[in-house]
Amino acid sequence: MSLLEIDDLRISLPTDGAPRVLVDGVSLRVNEGEFVGLAGESGSGKTVTALSALGFLPNGSSATGEVRLDGTDVLTMSPKQLRGVRGQTVAMVFQDPMTSLHPMLSIETQLTEQLRAHQSISKRAAQDRAVQLLDLVRIPNAQHALSAFPHHFSGGMRQRIAIASALACDPRLLIADEITTALDVTVQAGILELLQQIRRDTGMAVVFITHDLGVMNVTADSLYVMYSGRVVEHGVTRDVLAAPRHPYTRALIDALPNAHNLGEPLVAIPGDAATAENRPSGCAFHPRCAFAVDACRTDVPALRPVGTERELACHVDPFDPADRVTLLVETG
Ligand code: SF4
Repeated sequence: MSLLEIDDLRISLPTDGAPRVLVDGVSLRVNEGEFVGLAGESGSGKTVTALSALGFLPNGSSATGEVRLDGTDVLTMSPKQLRGVRGQTVAMVFQDPMTSLHPMLSIETQLTEQLRAHQSISKRAAQDRAVQLLDLVRIPNAQHALSAFPHHFSGGMRQRIAIASALACDPRLLIADEITTALDVTVQAGILELLQQIRRDTGMAVVFITHDLGVMNVTADSLYVMYSGRVVEHGVTRDVLAAPRHPYTRALIDALPNAHNLGEPLVAIPGDAATAENRPSGCAFHPRCAFAVDACRTDVPALRPVGTERELACHVDPFDPADRVTLLVETG
C-alpha cells in the first residue's frame, strides 16, 4: 500500500450549464519516502489534485473517486479526522511563504504556537524544538532568528522558515506547491537540495509541484505530467525527461533552455493552454498537437501502461522507441 493513493479523482464545479471539471479522472501513487514530481502549465489541475490529499476542495465543488492517505479515504473523513491528518500526516508549503507566515508575529511565536496546537509540550520544549527546526532548514544562528520577524529574512530564507513550520509535526508527506518559482536559480537549487536532505534524514515523502520540468531532473524519483486536469504521462523521472513519449511532455522539454540550445530561440508550445472553461473535446491537447488524428478530436485517450514503468495517454504514441527500431530495420 502506498502512503497516498489517488484513484480516478474527478473534481467539478457546478455552473448554469455543464459542470466545470477541474480534475478529470486523475490517479497517482506516492510511496513512503518517495519524491514525486507533479508538472504542467498553470490550470492543469496540479494544485487542486494535491490539495485533495489534505481534504481541501475548491469552494462549492464536488468530488468523486478516492484519495486514500495511509489507507483511509480523505474525502469521507470527518472534520475532526481531517484536523488530525493536516500538519501531522501531510503538510503543505506554498509558493508565497507569507501564505504560511504571519508578518506581525515573531518566528518563535509562529513555530511554538504551531507546535503547541498539535502537541502537549511545554513552552520551553516548544522553543527547543523550534530551534531544532530552524537548524534543520539551515537558518544561520537559529536561536537568534527566533526573535526576528518574517520581513527580516530574504525570500529564500522565508521559504526555509515556511518549510520548518510545515515540518513542525513530523509529517510523513510534504506537498511543496511551486515553492521555488519566485526564487533566483541559485536559491532554488539550495531549497531543492534542502528538501532532498530532509527527505533522506527523515524518510518523509515529497510531492513537488512545478510548471518547470527543468528542476525535476535531479530531484524527483517519479514524475506525473498533467494537462487540462488529466495525467498525460507518468514514469521514472530520468526516463521521462530523457525520452518523453507524450507530445505535450516533449513540447515542455523542448521549451526548456539546455546545453544543446544555448543561444537559440526557445521553442514555445503553439496555442493557448486548455483550461477547465475551454477544454477541447477528445484529447485536450489536440489543437496544439502536430500529431493529432481524427480520434484525438473526439475520444479522450486513456492513461495506459507502455514500456517499462511508464504510463501514457495518447492515441498515437508518436515517440514510441519500438516504432523507431522497426523503422530502422525496415529502411535498413
Ligand atoms: Fe496529440 Fe492525439 Fe496524442 Fe493528444 S492523443 S497528444 S492530440 S497525438
